[in-house]
Amino acid sequence: MEVKESKLAGHSNPFESMMSRFDVAAKILGLDEDTYNMLKSPVKQVMVNLPVTMDNGRINVYEGFRVIHNNYMGPGKGGIRFAMDVDLDEVKALAAWMTWKCAVVNVPFGGAKGGVKCDPRTMSKGELERLTRAYTQAMADVFGPEKDIPAPDMGTGQQEMAWLMDEFSRIKGFTNAGVVTGKPLVLGGSKGRVEATGRGVMVTCRAALNKLKINPANATAAVQGFGNVGSISAKLLESQGIKIVAISDVTGAYYNANGINVSEAIAYSQANKNSLEGYKNAEKITNDQLLTLDVDVLVPAALQDVITKDNAPNIKAKLIVEGANGPTSANADAILKEKGIMIVPDILANAGGVTVSYFEWVQNHQGYYWTEERVNRRADRTMKEAFEQVYQASIKFNVDMRIAAYIVAIDKVASTRKLLGGF
Ligand code: GLU
Repeated sequence: MEVKESKLAGHSNPFESMMSRFDVAAKILGLDEDTYNMLKSPVKQVMVNLPVTMDNGRINVYEGFRVIHNNYMGPGKGGIRFAMDVDLDEVKALAAWMTWKCAVVNVPFGGAKGGVKCDPRTMSKGELERLTRAYTQAMADVFGPEKDIPAPDMGTGQQEMAWLMDEFSRIKGFTNAGVVTGKPLVLGGSKGRVEATGRGVMVTCRAALNKLKINPANATAAVQGFGNVGSISAKLLESQGIKIVAISDVTGAYYNANGINVSEAIAYSQANKNSLEGYKNAEKITNDQLLTLDVDVLVPAALQDVITKDNAPNIKAKLIVEGANGPTSANADAILKEKGIMIVPDILANAGGVTVSYFEWVQNHQGYYWTEERVNRRADRTMKEAFEQVYQASIKFNVDMRIAAYIVAIDKVASTRKLLGGF
């Protein structure tokens, strides 16, 4: 097929950035043009304006989005982001990444994502509840346990999922646990879901270190971001004997060559309104400096596009494990490849979260709840198998791990489409 050459320069648009990798993989796979066009176009894009009464009596109108990128493998699946930079292009890219992510780990879902443009840190609990309920009501016909299943993402967590489940259940007239994952345990959440993304980062990091013949006990790591993914990744990597020399959050990065005590840092942050500001047992550096530290493993687990063509030449890590979605901009890929840095790409590295979301949805349907040991064992097996499949594809097609992951994912979704047929 004729797929346009990927434009690996200067992507500020996240959907284009995703598509540039997709194009490379599609070309290698020899994807036919019809399938290419179908996989490129999101199935559904919903945009709403949500009037919400604030605590001071005024009404703010918030922009809300939900994109179902693809549903060939099953119902739409993906988180809801509350952040100021949310827009349609970002949600579209994140939804497409969910399609590839679910396919990489063989979770029978399609890809979706939602978002509301807001700053949750400045909102009260009551305001967040009203916003979440307004969003759920606007999306009541989009969501459904067999249609589209949301989950937490940046700026949302268990509490928002509980409100979403409650609002959806009120509208439908019966308790509907399977409409959302990442719920609190008492409402039908799964054991192990809170740690699942960080655990997958740890499992794939170990698998990659094994390929690189690096002993975790002699390895050092820097972790960017100290939210759910960053803090738990750091804790679990530390539990594997890896020395965590730097951590960070929005207040900056904290470096200690002798190793940060991650549990102590987590306790400090929790006691300090989820902020590392003032953390004592480390030297303060910037988030940019953290990225270029002389470490074995770098885990970007915060924002998109932090590794760029400008700082990629200075990265010294031998392995990058992408806890965040889209932390490496497309124009940095070639530089990292040239430097021989191995990347466990986002759609593989952080897929542990959606894997356990799938287990949560299964348990909701079964009405029977698994032990944490069973959840972790199955999730670890899924992540190890997915890693190996992507690694083998990277050898077979002689491509980096990112393109290999896209090849594995696109191949699965495209062959499903062929079996399903069409109009
Ligand atoms: N927001 C998470 C992600 O980006 C989890 C999605 C889910 O569990 O559905 O993978």
